[in-house]
Amino acid sequence: MAVLDQLSSQQAIELENKYGAHNYHPLPVVLSRGEGVFVWDVEGKKYYDFLSAYSAVNQGHCHPKIVGAMVNQAQTLTLTSRAFYNDVLGKYEKFACEFFGFDKLLPMNTGAEAVETALKICRKWAYEVKGIDENEAEIVVCKNNFHGRTTTIISFSNDPVARKNFGPYTKGFIKIDYNNLDALESELKSNPNIAGFMAEPIQGEAGVFVPSEGYLTKAKALCEKYNVLFIADEVQTGIARTGKLLAVDHENVKPDLLILGKALSGGAYPVSAVLANDNIMKVIKPGNHGSTFGGNPVAAAVAIAALEVVRDENLAENAETLGKLFRSELSKYIETTDLVKLVRGKGLLNAIVINDDEESETAWNICLALRDNGLLAKPTHGNIIRFAPPLVMNEEQLLDCVSIIVKTLKQFEK
Ligand SMILES: *Cc1c(COP(=O)(O)O)cnc(C)c1O
Repeated sequence: MAVLDQLSSQQAIELENKYGAHNYHPLPVVLSRGEGVFVWDVEGKKYYDFLSAYSAVNQGHCHPKIVGAMVNQAQTLTLTSRAFYNDVLGKYEKFACEFFGFDKLLPMNTGAEAVETALKICRKWAYEVKGIDENEAEIVVCKNNFHGRTTTIISFSNDPVARKNFGPYTKGFIKIDYNNLDALESELKSNPNIAGFMAEPIQGEAGVFVPSEGYLTKAKALCEKYNVLFIADEVQTGIARTGKLLAVDHENVKPDLLILGKALSGGAYPVSAVLANDNIMKVIKPGNHGSTFGGNPVAAAVAIAALEVVRDENLAENAETLGKLFRSELSKYIETTDLVKLVRGKGLLNAIVINDDEESETAWNICLALRDNGLLAKPTHGNIIRFAPPLVMNEEQLLDCVSIIVKTLKQFEK
């Protein structure tokens, strides 16, 4: 078979199975094109994308402005490494710092790298500014977190599938219950070696678990009281997804370290970053940290375009409005059935919980039926289905999607 031959879906799946490591279990659909809120499979069937590559494609597939910036920069200069300056990185750093309200940005590529970067900055700050003894710093994290896949990050995961047989694990992390301020305060009060508290403002992979109102504000206040850095992992929740530019903006909380990824490029290119003010970022000096591709001109050009789209197309406001409509429309259906327990979320980061145990196949089978009915979503944690369409959706499309979802769920009523 020649490389350029058009594959059937079945052939594409067989190739991945035969030659790719089996580190994912994809829904059986093979996509070959995307535009806005839609994707098409190789046979030409059209779908609404209700995952948006885990909220990387907030700006919609192949946004012309983002792709244009990428192509233009790719034809001009792609990579210099940070051994030399390039003429786009500084513009991007200024743009992003002003956009999010921080003094400095440290550019990386993937979400996990940005999380690692934030942890390193936090530890260095603990030794050089807070005055914790060398190698004694600890960072508090939450149970059921998802922060990525590196050896250090999985060391503080409590997902057995992500952890087992990847040890020995990195030390220096304390896990507490999410959404529990007493647990946080008792750690902070009793342990002078705590350097930081890292959390997702909404736990996305855990099933779009939204903490109680006031949790983030109070957690940040506790961090201030005990001189501990508040680290917000907004890789999934950030960049308009939840109806504000950042999910912490719902409570007007300003993190000490802000971690961004995914939609920072609109899904066009791997771009991630950590933002902080000078009093924290000053601990990073030449040679302390880096990445060959981090801050490359293509990434910088793409990120500026991706953030401009968020601003110019009012994506946060659109996510807020459509999210309310989505939850209220689905709630009307949920009142009439035992199949779905609830819908929850903020903005266009939502999930439904199927009334079934975590091991059951119902959510997976519902996702297969949604696919057949023209809408792509994926279960998280067995009985939970996340719904996160691109934020460029309009009201008519959203209502069309609600009717597809309700029609499909009805097929599963007993
Ligand atoms: C996806 C995600 C990450 C990891 O990002 P990668 O680009 O896959 O490394 C980290 N934190 C959160 C909250 C995420 O959703």
